[in-house]
Amino acid sequence: MTRRIIIVGGGVAGTMVANRLAKSMENEVYNGELEIVLIGDTGKHIYQPGFLFMAFNEGFLEQFAREEKYLLHPKVNFVMDAARHIDVDRKRVITGKQSFDYDFLVIATGSYPDMESVPGLAAGGHTFYTPEGAERLRYEMLNFQGGTLLVTIDVPHKCPVAPLEFIFMADDYYREAGIRNKVQLKYTYPIGRVHSLEPVAKWAVKEFEKRGIEYETFFNLEKVDPEKRIAYNMDGSEHPYDLLIAIPAHRGARVIQDSGLGDEDGFIPTDRYSLKMEGQDCVYVIGDATDLPVSKAGSTAHYEADVVVRNLISELKGLPATHRYNGKAFCFIETGLNEATYITFNYKQPPQPVPPSEMLHWFKLSYNEMYWLSARGIL
Ligand SMILES: Cc1cc2nc3c(=O)[nH]c(=O)nc-3n(C[C@H](O)[C@H](O)[C@H](O)COP(=O)(O)OP(=O)(O)OC[C@H]3O[C@@H](n4cnc5c(N)ncnc54)[C@H](O)[C@@H]3O)c2cc1C
Repeated sequence: MTRRIIIVGGGVAGTMVANRLAKSMENEVYNGELEIVLIGDTGKHIYQPGFLFMAFNEGFLEQFAREEKYLLHPKVNFVMDAARHIDVDRKRVITGKQSFDYDFLVIATGSYPDMESVPGLAAGGHTFYTPEGAERLRYEMLNFQGGTLLVTIDVPHKCPVAPLEFIFMADDYYREAGIRNKVQLKYTYPIGRVHSLEPVAKWAVKEFEKRGIEYETFFNLEKVDPEKRIAYNMDGSEHPYDLLIAIPAHRGARVIQDSGLGDEDGFIPTDRYSLKMEGQDCVYVIGDATDLPVSKAGSTAHYEADVVVRNLISELKGLPATHRYNGKAFCFIETGLNEATYITFNYKQPPQPVPPSEMLHWFKLSYNEMYWLSARGIL
C-alpha cells in the first residue's frame, strides 16, 4: 500500500524536506510504496534574503527566483494550489480543487509581514520584507536626498537581524552617495534593548554610536499619519519622518488561522525538540510556521528540515522518532555594503558576533548563490 506524505508550503522548509526525503527514500518512492506531495500556492520559489539587496539596488527579483517545479526532485508530486483547510482529525488537506488524505503531514506555510497591523502604516510606510516592497524601496532610497529615515520594528518577525543589516547598509549607502550628513538615520526597537538577543543588542549599540545612527528602545508603533508623516509611539510621543521603513509584526499563514490550528497570531504550537505539532503524532511543523522561541530564519528551517526528514524516515521504517532539534540557527549580518559578521546559536548557547570582515560579506553573497543547492537538498 502506498503511504503518502503531504508537505504544505513550497518555501525554504517545505522544499528542503521534500527533496531530502525523496533522495533518502528513493527506492520506496520509485517502487510506489511512498508518495511525496508538495502543495504550494505559487509556482515561483523566491529567496527572500535577496529583498535586502534589492532595496539598495544590489540585485533584482529574477536573480532570487526559480520555478518551484524545477527545484523539486522529479518524483515529488507538486500540486500548485492553495491549501484551504487542514483537518488534522481526519488527516486530510483540502485545496481549491482536490482533497488529499495523508499518513504524515509537514506544515511549512511560513509567515507574512502584516502591514495592516498598524493604522496608516500601509499608506505611510515602506518595507523591504516583500518583493513588491523591496522593489519600491529601491527607488525611494535612490531618490531620498536627506531628512529623517525612521525604521520601526514589531515582533515577531522573520530574520531578526535583517533590520540591523538594513540600517548599517543605509549608513554606507548614503556615505557613498556623499549625503550622509543630510540623512538622520533612526532605528527603533519595541523592547528595552535594540535587539531581542542580548549579545547582539550590546554589539549593535556600539556600532550605532560609532556611526552616528540614532536609536530608541521601547518604541511600539501605534499609528501613522501618512499626510503629516508622523509615526506615533504607544507612549504618545510623535516621531516625524521623511522616509518610514517598517518591519511589521508577522502572522502565520491564513490557512493555519482558518483551520483553527494556530495561536492568536497563527503560529502553531510545536514541540521544540521533536518538531511535532503539540498533540498530533503524525504532523510535523517546520520553519516560520512554528511558535518556537527561535529565529524565524531560512537557516533555522534548514536545520529543522534535517531533524524532520530523519524522524520521518525512522517512522516510515517503523522505528522511533528520536532525532531532536537543538534550536540551531546561523545568520550572516551585513554590517555595511562591503563587510559582514555572523552569529550562530542554539537553545543553550547564546550568539556572539565576530569582528566584521570583507571576507564574511563575500561568504554571505556566495551563500545567496549556493542557496539553490540547499533547496535541492544537495548542500
Ligand atoms: C528581507 C528578508 C531577509 C532575510 N534574510 C535572511 C537571512 O539572511 N538568513 C536567513 O536564514 N533567513 C533570512 N530571512 C528569513 C527566511 O527567508 C525565512 O525565515 C524563510 O523563508 C522561512 O522558510 P519557510 O519555508 O518557513 O517559509 P517561506 O519560505 O516563507 O515559505 C512558505 C511557503 O508556504 C506557502 N504557503 C502559504 N500558505 C499556503 C497555503 N495555504 N497553501 C500552499 N502554500 C502556502 C507560501 O506561498 C510560501 O511559498 C529573510 C527574510 C526576509 C524577508
